[in-house]
Amino acid sequence: MKRVAFSFLALALLSTCAVFSSSLAVASDAGPGVSAEEALRLLVEGNERFAANKTAHPHSNFARLVDTAEHGQHPFATVLGCSDSRVPVELLFDQGFGDVFVVRVAGGVCADDETGSIEYGVSHLGTPILVVLGHTQCGAVTATVEHEHADGHIKSLVSHIEPAVKRVRAARPELSGAALIEAAVVENVYVAIEELFEHSPMVVEALEKGKLWIVPAIYDVKTGKVDWRAPIKSKKDLKNVKK
Ligand SMILES: [Zn+2]
Repeated sequence: MKRVAFSFLALALLSTCAVFSSSLAVASDAGPGVSAEEALRLLVEGNERFAANKTAHPHSNFARLVDTAEHGQHPFATVLGCSDSRVPVELLFDQGFGDVFVVRVAGGVCADDETGSIEYGVSHLGTPILVVLGHTQCGAVTATVEHEHADGHIKSLVSHIEPAVKRVRAARPELSGAALIEAAVVENVYVAIEELFEHSPMVVEALEKGKLWIVPAIYDVKTGKVDWRAPIKSKKDLKNVKK
């Protein structure tokens, strides 16, 4: 498991500036006005505050609500995450109104509607970063691993998670129980990104033009910490990625 090491200490001042530039960019139509690197830094630092129980609750007051209502939204990140009630995206990244364009669906799958929502975030809102956020103890992934009976439209969700489970079972037959679920959670994030690439030339184009980073990440529901993986900056990065 490769973790990405970020050196943020020396960049604290820069990120503070980025927060302000993000706020100032509210009046602009040219997107949030931050780079992918800065956007990632804001999320990393926000999660560090959250996990250390030192949240700042930026952009969470009524004035910010009024500001975003009057001037529109210019979020600096799009996030695809799970519907799980323990994974509230704005809270775990310590962000507020207008900061993050969030797509939440059980299992964090990337089917047609999720792809359309992501395209809106990336293309129309110009977010320079897309985080695909899996999480530990994911019920949708667990149900798929354990072949729980799926009723109604839940079958559709499961069909998007099954490829990840099959792939992990084939590659690592020694895994079972919690270890298998943990590996499937990670694989499911990459499967979602693959599906996105398959269905969205718009997202691939943004990636290849250097307008977008896609950052896989896993949130731990016990610690509140996000485990960041190497950013995908080109479609070919997905083939060489270490999970
Ligand atoms: Zn989940």
